Amino acid sequence: MGGVSDQRNSSQATENGDYPVPERLRETKSMGRGFVEYHLPESKRTEGVLWSAFLDYRLPNGAKLHILQQAAWCPVCRAFVIAEELPSVESLEEEIRLFQTGDPNQLRIWEFVSNGAPVEDRIAELRRRIEWRRSRISPPRCLHCGNLEIVPIPEIGEFRHPQTGERVIVTSSGFADAAPWFAEFSPEGEQLTDQGAS
Ligand SMILES: [Zn+2]
Repeated sequence: MGGVSDQRNSSQATENGDYPVPERLRETKSMGRGFVEYHLPESKRTEGVLWSAFLDYRLPNGAKLHILQQAAWCPVCRAFVIAEELPSVESLEEEIRLFQTGDPNQLRIWEFVSNGAPVEDRIAELRRRIEWRRSRISPPRCLHCGNLEIVPIPEIGEFRHPQTGERVIVTSSGFADAAPWFAEFSPEGEQLTDQGAS
């Protein structure tokens, strides 16, 4: 991967305390594609997972909603992949509450990732996401093949491979100058259109 910037070496990684900054940052469209790189020492392999800022649900009213993404093992792809992340309605409502009560940490993070957009934009998006989430039936899918049997994997530290039990180590994470992947999905996560590099 070219143009990789290691997020752990930047001041941004620590400024926001315990807040899940990488997930939020991976929604931005200006810093390249978020990635996590995994090393499997026993089989001497390296695998990478790439986020995309240009994956959207096409809602019944024609509006688009950005797809939240997480790293996962997909037994159909037989690889670590990017998969849907389905936030709970409660966590989305909590985020709205934090904005409405003027939580300083929440506002600081928004200021950092928003490119100057008003907080009301984020609240409106959260309301659209709650509406979508309430009607969503399927569990999260692999965004490459649509499989529903994914196993989420950590994005920091070490863990055992969900299928083989082999040790897996997260070796780096950050942003990469990778070719963009544009795609649209149904509200149930079925792929409708595809363009660019998945
Ligand atoms: Zn898959």
